[in-house]
Parts: sequence; structure tokens; C-alpha cells
Amino acid sequence: ERAKLARLRHKPALTLDGEHIELHANIEMPADAPAAVEAGATGVGLFRSEFLFMNRDGELPSEEEQFVAYKAAVEAMRGMPVTIRTVDVGADKPLDRMSAHELRHEHVLNPAMGLRAIRWSLAEPSMFRQQLRAIYRASAFGKVRLLIPMVAHLSEIRQILETIKKVQQQLTDAGHAFTKVDLGVMIEIPAAAVMLPLLLRHVDFVSIGTNDLIQYTLAIDRADESVAHLYDPWHPAVLQLLASSIAHARAAGKSVSVCGEMAGDSAFTFLLLAMGLRSFSMHPSQIPSVKQRILRADAGRLSSYLADVLDSDDPQRSAEFAFAAYRTES
Ligand code: PEP
Ligand code: MG
Repeated sequence: ERAKLARLRHKPALTLDGEHIELHANIEMPADAPAAVEAGATGVGLFRSEFLFMNRDGELPSEEEQFVAYKAAVEAMRGMPVTIRTVDVGADKPLDRMSAHELRHEHVLNPAMGLRAIRWSLAEPSMFRQQLRAIYRASAFGKVRLLIPMVAHLSEIRQILETIKKVQQQLTDAGHAFTKVDLGVMIEIPAAAVMLPLLLRHVDFVSIGTNDLIQYTLAIDRADESVAHLYDPWHPAVLQLLASSIAHARAAGKSVSVCGEMAGDSAFTFLLLAMGLRSFSMHPSQIPSVKQRILRADAGRLSSYLADVLDSDDPQRSAEFAFAAYRTES
């Protein structure tokens, strides 16, 4: 089994009908990058940068410390793309040393709906600029992509673009090198999925965060055990948002990936291929099993079953039935 996985690592992720699939890795620290390469990842689809900000006693990481970390990840990926997500902190992902804004979080009732992710970054503009400068500086050392979490408003995109312009000017003035950085947003709030064609006019790519998209679509706290049985990735509303998001991005000619847990769960590989997804990002350990499914898939044929699955009262059963011919024997 181990030898089989090793052989799999170097095989390109191609479907039977010749569709090339990107299998990217989710990482939390630059030290995770070598394991991603080892697992056969063709890039980093999600670098959760908040891990640089969490679990520390002292100050938050400086621009320099962040730059060193991003550069290390970029260099470890040897020219493959590294998608760095700006901090996704909030009351549910707290910083140890809390800023004035963070302190206010101690008493909020709905932290998942509060000042987190891009909302927090825009409320802490100097911190946001610091992080963007570090990310842009790392772009001089490889292919960097910038990903913004929890976007729900066009006004947020306008503010992000303005901040990027300012940061680029600062870097130029300071004599720092940087190259073109593609801008992407996470689709993890239903509003963003519903208005995706509008968002797509302003960004280069999107990445669907199914963990939060499910939480917010179904109003199920992803960390609350008492409602965990209702946290259902197969829910028809979730599948419809996923399918339409992928279709809209493709129609606009923009790259789209899924970086939530669904991407790394091989139970969903055929369904996501059927929806037209060609880029998956997951924990490095999940890459081999997803790749095995891809190697047995005929993407064109799979897509012909999609309408039936989306139209079903029981999409999970319907998908299992439709994709039975593709079930792996191993
Ligand atoms: C997601 O929400 O699916 C996601 C990838 O982001 P996180 O799990 O870090 O919130
Ligand atoms: Mg998320």
C-alpha cells in the first residue's frame, strides 16, 4: 500500500478523458510545505496565515517575520503557486494577545457573525497593510496568490483594492521588489455565492470554503456538537450553491477551487468533478485518495449525471447510485 501511494505521488492527476486536475495543499505553517510537495501537491491552495498570529505570548508577527514565513513557504514550493490567505481571526479563532478590537469580542454572542477575517483586517488597517506588504514582498521569490476570507460586500473589495494600491506604492518607494499577485476571494458566505457574477468582475480567482459555506447556509454552528447531525454537506441548498458558484466562475473564465473539507473527502470527488471543478485544495494526507478517484473518473460522463443529483430529494443516494460504476475497488 505504501509503495502504491509512492507511485501515485508522481502521477499527474488526469481523468480518463484527459482533464488535468490541480491538487493543492492546505497548510498552516511554512514547515508544512515540504509535506505538501512530498504528497504530490501541485501548489498551496490555502495557507491559513492566522496560524502565524495564534498561540504566541508576545507581539503579533511583524512585517519582517511574516515576510520570512511567506518566503519560506514560496521557496519550499519551488515555483508552484502559493495561495496566502490573509488572517482569518475573530472571536472564534482568537489571538492570545488581544488588540482593542479583540477585547470587545469577549462578549459577543455570535462570534462567527462578528468582526472576523476581512472585517477584522479592514478594522485594523495598519495590520492589514503590514500583512499585504509581507505577502507582496514574498512574490519576488515565486508565484504568490492573495486570498481574502469571508468577503460578502463589494465595498470590501473596493477597500482591498485601494489598500493594495497603497501598499504597492509603499513598497516601490522603499525599493522592495514584487511581482503580479493574483487576487482571489473565498466564497464562504451565501451572499458571496449568490452574487458571484458581480464579485467575479473584480477578482482573478475564487476559492470555495465549504466549511463556513455550510455553516452559514444551514445556520449550523460548525463547532456546536448539539447540532452537528444537521451539518450536512449533502444538503440540496449547499450543493446548489456549490454547483452554481463553480459554473459562474468557469463561465467568467476565472479559476475556481474548493478548499474546505469537502475537497479532501473522496466521497465528494466525483460530484465535484461533475460540477466542473478542476482544482481541489486539501490536507496533504488526503491527496492520494482523492487522486485515486480522479484517475478512475471520466469527467465528461460524470457531468451528465449532475442534473439528476441536484434534482434529487436524496442527493447522497442519488450520487452513490449514479457514480456506482466509478466506485474504487481498492
Ligand atoms: C472553509 O471555511 O471552508 C475554509 C477553508 O476556511 P476555514 O476552515 O479556515 O474557516
Ligand atoms: Mg472559512
